[in-house]
Amino acid sequence: MKILVINCGSSSIKYELFAMEGEKVLARGFLEKIGEEGSLLSHHSQGEVLRIKRDIPSHEDGLELVVQVLMDKEKGVVKDASDVFAVGHRVVQGGEKFIEPTLIDDEVIEAIRQYQGLAPLHNPFNLAGIMAMRRLLPEVPQVAVFDTAFHHTMPEAAYLYAIPMKYYRKYGLKRYGFHGTSHRYVAEKAAEISNLPLSELNLITCHLGNGCSMTAIRQGKVVDTSMGFTPLEGLIMGTRCGDIDAAAAIFLAEKEKLSFQEIGNLLNKESGLLGLSGLSNDVRVLEKAAREGNSKAALALEVFAYRVRKYIGAYLAVLGRVDAIIFTAGIGKNSPSMRSAILKGISPLGISLDEARNQNPEKTQGIITTEDSPIKVLVIRTHEEALIARDTLQVVKKSLFDSGRAK
Ligand code: ADP
Repeated sequence: MKILVINCGSSSIKYELFAMEGEKVLARGFLEKIGEEGSLLSHHSQGEVLRIKRDIPSHEDGLELVVQVLMDKEKGVVKDASDVFAVGHRVVQGGEKFIEPTLIDDEVIEAIRQYQGLAPLHNPFNLAGIMAMRRLLPEVPQVAVFDTAFHHTMPEAAYLYAIPMKYYRKYGLKRYGFHGTSHRYVAEKAAEISNLPLSELNLITCHLGNGCSMTAIRQGKVVDTSMGFTPLEGLIMGTRCGDIDAAAAIFLAEKEKLSFQEIGNLLNKESGLLGLSGLSNDVRVLEKAAREGNSKAALALEVFAYRVRKYIGAYLAVLGRVDAIIFTAGIGKNSPSMRSAILKGISPLGISLDEARNQNPEKTQGIITTEDSPIKVLVIRTHEEALIARDTLQVVKKSLFDSGRAK
């Protein structure tokens, strides 16, 4: 049974095709620079990489190419449309309405469209992907899996901003949180590794990639997360500033005579590690530069680590008891020196890092703390697409079951 997972960004499409028996990835790929010159599709399947360079003006054209490659007579892994059981889409903003994975119909599309205003940098592209796949594979059921959904259990105290309540009521202006699928994936994996039900675990999950966010999870349910109304809040990221005094943005806009869009760009695209270092948003580049004596790169990394440490402290206080802290995504999974910088001096709080394990987490099922550390720290590779595929399968099976019963 095959499920195709689609993740449309502003100028890119990521996709993965799963054989659900054993959750095997049959093909995966990345199409970049949509709508720009030099669009490039990199398609991985059966140990081979296919690269196609050709200008792709829109997401629909991009997905048409993806479907063609997947169904290629010679090398394709899909026979025809009937060979695809369902398509799962990542949708960034589900607002207060979508708290679980949802079978897509016209009404759902309309609701996602209405949430575009809440996530103008993401939802329009997610929606473009949905519309295109509906046209390309009209008979195949489509499911939306929302980045915000896992966070819907946050209590008011965590999701309200202290601004007049009328704006929450009028616009839904509150903290939603993002990366929910990744936080849920690693939380479920941690439960599997520790052989305990997720509903008994208190966890702090740290998704540190291009975008970065942390989540406090009590008995399997989210009680707080660091991203807010948009993915700008919270941790320092590759190019986003994270938490900042809102008045500083107003000050800058006034002094530099910046429009709303310009100040948005400055905080989302020119800040974070890139802004601090003046060099790069990539931790690999900064770590190398810091080793070679670049003090601005070293400072950027230190500020990044400090912010994560501060949130760990906050979430320890929120949760009271914590079983494990989990690091995931590009930086969290791959940078031992960043993990060790984050956890520096934290042992009085019950987290005792084992530096040898930190260098080689694979040897100890991802556990990088000492045997007697009261709070465990784990390194887990995230795989959001796998969870989207699982959710998609469940939703479609349930709807088939329900419609069978109704007949
Ligand atoms: P996305 O959020 O786009 O999925 P990733 O989770 O792949 O991104 O994270 C990308 C970031 O991870 C890169 O920008 C880089 O900073 C960091 N990264 C990837 N590999 C390493 C590594 N070996 N060491 C340090 N940082 C890394």
